[in-house]
Amino acid sequence: NADAAMYHAKASGRNNYQYFNEEMNMAAAMHFEMESALRSALQLGQFELHYQPIMDIATRRLATLEVLLRWRRPAGGLVMPDQFIPLIEDNGLIVPIGEWVLRRACEQSMEWQRQGIAPVPMAINLSARQFMHRGLVDSIRRTLEETGIDPALIEFEITETALMQHGEQTLEILGQINAMGIRLSIDDFGTGYSSLAYLKRFPVRKIKIDRAFIKDLEESAEDRAIVAAIVALSDSLQLSVVAEGVETEGQFQLLREQGCTFAQGYLFSKPVLGVRAQLMMDKAA
Ligand code: C2E
Ligand code: MG
Ligand code: MG
Ligand code: MG
Repeated sequence: NADAAMYHAKASGRNNYQYFNEEMNMAAAMHFEMESALRSALQLGQFELHYQPIMDIATRRLATLEVLLRWRRPAGGLVMPDQFIPLIEDNGLIVPIGEWVLRRACEQSMEWQRQGIAPVPMAINLSARQFMHRGLVDSIRRTLEETGIDPALIEFEITETALMQHGEQTLEILGQINAMGIRLSIDDFGTGYSSLAYLKRFPVRKIKIDRAFIKDLEESAEDRAIVAAIVALSDSLQLSVVAEGVETEGQFQLLREQGCTFAQGYLFSKPVLGVRAQLMMDKAA
C-alpha cells in the first residue's frame, strides 16, 4: 500500500533512491519509445484531424470549425494533443506535422466544397515553435496554391505567450500571413501575460477567452466581471470574442447577455471526425 511504501522509502534513504531511479528510467524509456513512434507516425498515416464547431451566439449556428490533431496508435488508442504536442515542439517534429495539419484541413475543406457543402472557415492552431521556423510563410503559401483553398476560409490560432515570445520577428511573420488573407486569433486569452493594448499592434481579429474563465461563470461574480471586461475592451478594439469550453446552457445565456460573439464547447459538440462534422454543415443552395 502507498502509505507503507512511502514510509519505507522515507525510512531508508538508499531504497528511496533506487525506487526513484527506477521510475526515472521507466519515464525516460517511455519518452524514448514515444518519440521514435512519433518519428514514423506521419508516414504511417497515424494522425487524424477532428473538428469542433464554434457557434455564432446570436444565431446559434455553426460559424467556424476548429481543427484539432489526434494521434491514432495501432495498439494504444487515440492519443490527445496534450500528450504529444509538447514533445514534438521540443524535437521540431511539429514543423512537418503542422504542415500536414494545414494541408489536410485545406484538402478536407475543398472536398466538402466539391460535394456542394457551403464552406465553413477552419481554425488551425499554430505553436510558437512553428513560428520560429523560417520556412513557415512559404510553406503556407504553397499549401494555399496547391490545394486551391480561399485564404479567407483559414484562421490561425496563436496563444498570447507565443506572440509575446518573439516580438518583432513574430509581428513581421503575422503581417505576411495577414497579407495572404488569412485571419488570426489569439488562443487561450487570459492565461498568459495579456495586454489587450499590446494586442493592438498585431493584425488580430478575434480573441478566444480561455476555458478557465468560463468554467465557473455561473457561480463566480469575479469571472463574470473578467469576461465582461474582456468583451467590452474587445468591442472597443473591434475584435470579436469566442468563449472556449462552454458546457452549460447557463454559461451560454450569460455569454449572450454579455455580448460575446461566439461560443465553443461540449454544449454544442466535442471535436468529431470529418464525417460527423459534415452533418453539422449546410448544403449550399
Ligand atoms: P486549444 O487550441 O485551446 O483547443 C481547445 C481544447 O479544448 C481542445 O482540446 C478541445 O477538445 C477542448 N475543449 C473544447 N470544448 C471543451 C469543453 O467544453 N470542455 C472541455 N473540458 N474541453 C473542451 P484538445 O483537442 O485536447 O487540444 C489541446 C490543445 O492542443 C489545443 O488547445 C491546442 O493548443 C493543441 N493542439 C491541438 N491540435 C493542434 C495542432 O494541430 N497544432 C498545434 N500546434 N497545436 C494543436
Ligand atoms: Mg485553439
Ligand atoms: Mg484554446
Ligand atoms: Mg490550449
